[in-house]
Amino acid sequence: MASGRNGQLALRAAGLLGGFRALVLPGGEASRVLDKHAVVHWDVADEAEGGRPEVDRGQVRDLLLDSLPEDTVHWGRKATGARPLGAGRHEVTFADGTAVTTDLLVGADGAWSRVRSLLSDARPVYSGISFVEADLRDADTRHRTRPLSSATECCSRSPRARGSSLTARPTEACTCTTALTAAEDWLDTIDFADANRSKAGVLTRFDGWDASLKTLVANADGRLTPREINVLPVGHRWNRVPGVTLLGDAAHLMSPFAGEGANLAMLDGAELGQVLAAHPNTPKKP
Ligand SMILES: Cc1cc2nc3c(=O)[nH]c(=O)nc-3n(C[C@H](O)[C@H](O)[C@H](O)COP(=O)(O)OP(=O)(O)OC[C@H]3O[C@@H](n4cnc5c(N)ncnc54)[C@H](O)[C@@H]3O)c2cc1C
Repeated sequence: MASGRNGQLALRAAGLLGGFRALVLPGGEASRVLDKHAVVHWDVADEAEGGRPEVDRGQVRDLLLDSLPEDTVHWGRKATGARPLGAGRHEVTFADGTAVTTDLLVGADGAWSRVRSLLSDARPVYSGISFVEADLRDADTRHRTRPLSSATECCSRSPRARGSSLTARPTEACTCTTALTAAEDWLDTIDFADANRSKAGVLTRFDGWDASLKTLVANADGRLTPREINVLPVGHRWNRVPGVTLLGDAAHLMSPFAGEGANLAMLDGAELGQVLAAHPNTPKKP
């Protein structure tokens, strides 16, 4: 994942910037753009300035989780609903039949947030773009086809054409993402349980592309992963309701092209935490 200025502000506020820097993938800020004939039109080396480093998402998640007191996160407790109790208090119910009441409910529950309905009628809508992800394990040794001479190079080539693009990112196991303008039900027309048929179905959108680029899909390991890209309306906002708020995708779900969603989610959390910590009504640690 690309980690931009916003995410790094949040990590600095949490005292985790040093740990984060140790996770940065070397060469991840290099960027190339090719056309569908694999001709390079843009080629920028990684100057190691740290402005927009690439990191493994799971490792950042562990860094954040490991910084929290032991039982802060309760795993496997699916919230089924939330309702106002008056005076700014809310009750959250869980699938296991339990419930909690709280003075402050923060909906950080992603695109299909259960909490959002307490503040807003907005629902995510299909953006018109569908992604299909292809995993290339051991990309630097097993996928050394021209012009993909190493994992890092493969991952920094980003060819675009009308309606279809193919992007790969530098992670240990390279993930190649195809982004396609498509009808909302297009992904349903492909049987993703059948790896070979789904590869053939996706590659119909890449007719005329250079074979070295199409191999990123054709040689993928395992099944392809489909992702419908949904968004909340630009400028989504709500009137203040005491005792409840939203952050991250629950508040501002957007397409991934800017590489900002996780960064903004972290910054939202950091800013909210700082405001709460500074508020005179917030109980202070003894
Ligand atoms: C293909 C792709 C590539 C992306 N690349 C980047 C990138 O490079 N850089 C970047 O900054 N962003 C990127 N993003 C966007 C980023 O993934 C999201 O913006 C980010 O994950 C939002 O974080 P969040 O915490 O708000 O929501 P989420 O990550 O969705 O987390 C929500 C959490 O709430 C939990 N949850 C949901 N419902 C319930 C419930 N009912 N009960 C209990 N728990 C619940 C979920 O299990 C989850 O753990 C990308 C997105 C996609 C799809």
